[in-house]
Amino acid sequence: MAPNAADPKIIQSVSHLDWHAASIYPCSAIRVQQNVEALQWIQEVKQSMRCSHCWCLAQEHETETQAKVRGELEAAADERARQKRARDAMEAQHRINRVQASRQRAENAEQEGIELRKTRQDMLRGAELGGCEGCSECPGFEVHYTEHHALDTKVMFYCSMCGCDAAKHTICSAWKAQEEKKRKALEHEQEARRKAWERHNHRQQQTARSQPKPAAALKTLGLHLGATTKQISAAYRKMALRWHPDKNPGADREHAQAKFVEVTEAFKSLRDE
Ligand SMILES: [Zn+2]
Ligand SMILES: [Zn+2]
Ligand SMILES: [Zn+2]
Repeated sequence: MAPNAADPKIIQSVSHLDWHAASIYPCSAIRVQQNVEALQWIQEVKQSMRCSHCWCLAQEHETETQAKVRGELEAAADERARQKRARDAMEAQHRINRVQASRQRAENAEQEGIELRKTRQDMLRGAELGGCEGCSECPGFEVHYTEHHALDTKVMFYCSMCGCDAAKHTICSAWKAQEEKKRKALEHEQEARRKAWERHNHRQQQTARSQPKPAAALKTLGLHLGATTKQISAAYRKMALRWHPDKNPGADREHAQAKFVEVTEAFKSLRDE
């Protein structure tokens, strides 16, 4: 950054010229005119003033505050970059360690005669994984493990081939296509089941509508199967009058009451059909 030392000097000389121009001319019109001219001149001087260090125009230099803010931002960016480099270096070392540990597991398994298992699946997403976006040097996600490590997230979440986190590996396009096919098949099946259920309900409603009125209730009202609603109402009115407790006083009252309840219930059940 070029120094900014010219700035205060410019300000000083400008205020001096201002005052000087105003005091020389007693006539206010001339004074104003002279002031305007002086200001224009000052403006021109300011605009054409150059830095003795870099010979750039004064206005092309940043102020001290701007320089300070920029310096701070640059320092913060540098610090972030430094931290990222440190993290990357650490992660690279971790990757190397993981790949080595994986080889070690395979060797141990062979020596001890234990089965070494291999999976291309991401434990979290359940997806089959392909190449790695973290290092771009992975031939394809694989975890080499023994039964002993099957639940160890430090083993199962990391690729044995490149040492990166499973999450950095892309999902296999073949696996995606297969999953999509499965999803469509399931949807298709659900749709078919829903339609079958609708057909079933429809049939049920149809049969319920076409079903004959319960025979027992009709018999109570003294009607034959296939009696119309009108006939049922008429029969009920007749029977209800016939067995109404008020119309059957004395010894018959109890019997009449029972009959009245019976026909009323029969009518209700038919009406509710
Ligand atoms: Zn300069
Ligand atoms: Zn990998
Ligand atoms: Zn990787």
